[in-house]
Amino acid sequence: TKTILLKNRPEGKPSISDFEFKTEESENTVNQGELLLETKYVSVDPYLRGRMSDAKSYVPPFQLDKPIQSGVIAEVLESKNDKFKAGDFVSGMLNWQTKQVSKAEGLTKVDPSKAPLSAYLGILGMTGLTAYTGLTEIGKPKAGETLVVSGAAGAVGSVVGQIGKILGLKVIGIAGTDEKIEMLKSKFGFDAGINYKTTKDMKAAIAEAAPNGVDIYFDNVGGPISDAVLVNINRLARIIVCGAISVYNNTEAPKSLSVQPFLVKNSALMQGFIVSNYTDKFPEAMKQLSTWLAEDKLTYSETIVKGFDNIPSAFIDLFEGKNKGKMVVEL
Ligand code: NDP
Repeated sequence: TKTILLKNRPEGKPSISDFEFKTEESENTVNQGELLLETKYVSVDPYLRGRMSDAKSYVPPFQLDKPIQSGVIAEVLESKNDKFKAGDFVSGMLNWQTKQVSKAEGLTKVDPSKAPLSAYLGILGMTGLTAYTGLTEIGKPKAGETLVVSGAAGAVGSVVGQIGKILGLKVIGIAGTDEKIEMLKSKFGFDAGINYKTTKDMKAAIAEAAPNGVDIYFDNVGGPISDAVLVNINRLARIIVCGAISVYNNTEAPKSLSVQPFLVKNSALMQGFIVSNYTDKFPEAMKQLSTWLAEDKLTYSETIVKGFDNIPSAFIDLFEGKNKGKMVVEL
């Protein structure tokens, strides 16, 4: 059995040396109620960066010298639990480990005949739920409004933009390469895209792409990109603060925001969003996402990295924008 543990709490950008690889012969004894699982796909996500530090947050930090956990799809090799049988595939928060014994808490069965297994980590998993509940519950979109999405070519952002189009919004995406901007328009149906790495005046570029102003901002990145969006908001704009990847690796205290006056004068709502606060909406969201997928109204991209040993590097690559759509590791 191979395991990846957290060796150091990263300072700034995580590096491979923050992780420890361990290989050991394990007995894998399965007790009553437990399952023996073999990992098939591992989700790497920007929020894991937060759990690698020991700052107080909404989920407890990872412990040093203990396995890292994230969303995993695994096959049941052996079951002593009535709810699962050998050959089933399950999704849940599990260790970065090739094989593991689980008490089956929080695991759900996933059906490989309905969608590729990796999709249950993306569009039919946390990613899709985040996009749908964040946009509908906080964004409260109305047809004809203008939506700006940052991190638009990533897992969450690419789904947010497509849902925006389904709901009749004008959708503008912000991402870090011309290839991603092209994909936003040709594959995901965005109306416009802005490459934040090559655009000198983001504030002007957003004003140009959104001549009627911004009604909803789905923020995945924070920092200066978000400041440039916020100076373009309309009265009663809604801002979903889903993530802030551009500042996750910062080691200095945040500089003060100077955009608050734009919130005040527009009576705008800016709300932090955590997907796990919306579990009551998950059944509706899953039903809607599956229906749209079946109707080909929604599509998705994945960047699939092969090999258990490449989990940490795939995670680190999120901060370099190496992924298009959902970053997943296949074992
Ligand atoms: P993504 O698939 O979007 O991957 C991260 C992307 O962020 C990269 O592809 C990169 O794209 C972009 N990025 C990296 N560094 C920067 C930077 N300095 N400035 C701007 N963009 C950058 O990840 P997810 O879709 O999984 O997550 C998106 C966001 O949503 C994250 O902030 C995450 O923490 C948050 N999230 C929050 C949840 C919640 O419940 N609150 C749940 C799930 C996700 P590019 O090439 O465009 O730079």
